Amino acid sequence: MSKERKVATLFLSSIGILGLLFAGLTFADPRQTEIVKPRIDSSFDSLVVPTRVVPTRTPYDYCIFNPQDPDPFSAIAAGTPVPLEVKALSISDMKAIRSSQLSMENIIYPERNNNKYHVLLIPIGYDNPAELKQQIEYLVGISTKIFKDINISFSYLDQSMPLGIQKIDRLLVPTDEKEADVLLEKIREFYRVDNAVIVFNTTDGLGACGNYAVVSGNDQYAASGLAHEQMHKLGFSDGYELFYGEGFAENTELFTSTQSLASLIKVAYDVISPTLRIVSSENVCNGQPVYTFNRYRNVMTSLFSDSELQELFANGENILTPMHVELANRRIKGVLELTF
Ligand SMILES: [Zn+2]
Repeated sequence: MSKERKVATLFLSSIGILGLLFAGLTFADPRQTEIVKPRIDSSFDSLVVPTRVVPTRTPYDYCIFNPQDPDPFSAIAAGTPVPLEVKALSISDMKAIRSSQLSMENIIYPERNNNKYHVLLIPIGYDNPAELKQQIEYLVGISTKIFKDINISFSYLDQSMPLGIQKIDRLLVPTDEKEADVLLEKIREFYRVDNAVIVFNTTDGLGACGNYAVVSGNDQYAASGLAHEQMHKLGFSDGYELFYGEGFAENTELFTSTQSLASLIKVAYDVISPTLRIVSSENVCNGQPVYTFNRYRNVMTSLFSDSELQELFANGENILTPMHVELANRRIKGVLELTF
C-alpha cells in the first residue's frame, strides 16, 4: 500500500468519525415538519422514500471545502498542509515481539473453518489479564452478532503485545506497521489470519484503518468502531457529511444518481435494489442534491454505543445494511478464492 493510499484511508476513517458529531444535528432535529419529495432522475424516482427536511437549516455542500471547518483532516484533503499533533501512547518493543513464543494455545476461539474469513483481535496495553479477557471477549461476542450474516469469524490473542501506538490528532495508529507485520508473520505460521485488528486499551481516542485497524478497547463505541474499521477492510468508505475532496464522495454511499455510484456499491444496488431504501441526504455535492441508502443504523454513517446495539439486537435490528451484507460476502468469497 502506497503512502498516499494510507493517508487517504486514514482521512476517510477520520471524517467518518467526525460525521458522527453532525449526524445528530442533521437527522434528529425535532423541528422536522415539512415533507418534501426529493428531485431525482425518473429512472429510480419510485425507489426514493420521501424524507422530512429541516426548513431552518441550509443544506451544506459535501464537496466544497469550508475554510471555517476546524477539522485538520478536511483541510489536508482540500490540499492545505496542516501540522498534526503526534503523541506516543504505548512503547514499542520489536525485540520482545520477535522473541515472543506464540502457539495455537494463545488463540482464543480459534476458527478451524478455512471457508471463513478470519479476523484476529490483538490486544495492546493490557497489564491485567482479567481485564483483557473481559474486554476482548465482550468485543468478540458483540462483533459476532453484528456480523452474523457475513461469512466471518472473530478470535483473539490471549496476551497483550508490545506494539507501539501513537495518536495523530485524534486518531490511533500503529507507530510502525512493521511491528505488526512481524507479529502476524509469526502467528500465520500456525494460524490463518485474514485481518488483524489492534485493540488498544484506552478510553481516549478514535480508531483508524491503515494496513491495520486500531480501535479503542475500553470505550462504549468500541464494538461499532471495530465493525466500522472491518467494513473499511472489506471495501467500504465512509458515507457522510463533511468535506469530500475531488472524487471521494462517489466512493461512499452518497450519490447524485445511480450512475454516479462507485462500482463496488453499484453491484449490490443492482442485485438488491428492491429492498434498499433511497433517501435524500438533505445536502448537496457541488450544488447537486445528494441521496443515500438506509439513512439510519448504518455503521459506515455513524457509530453506536453498546447500549444502543443491545437495544437494536433486542428488536432484531442491526447496524449493517442489506447492501453491506451482500457486498461483504462477495468480497470475502473473492479473498477466500484467492487464498485457496
Ligand atoms: Zn471510517
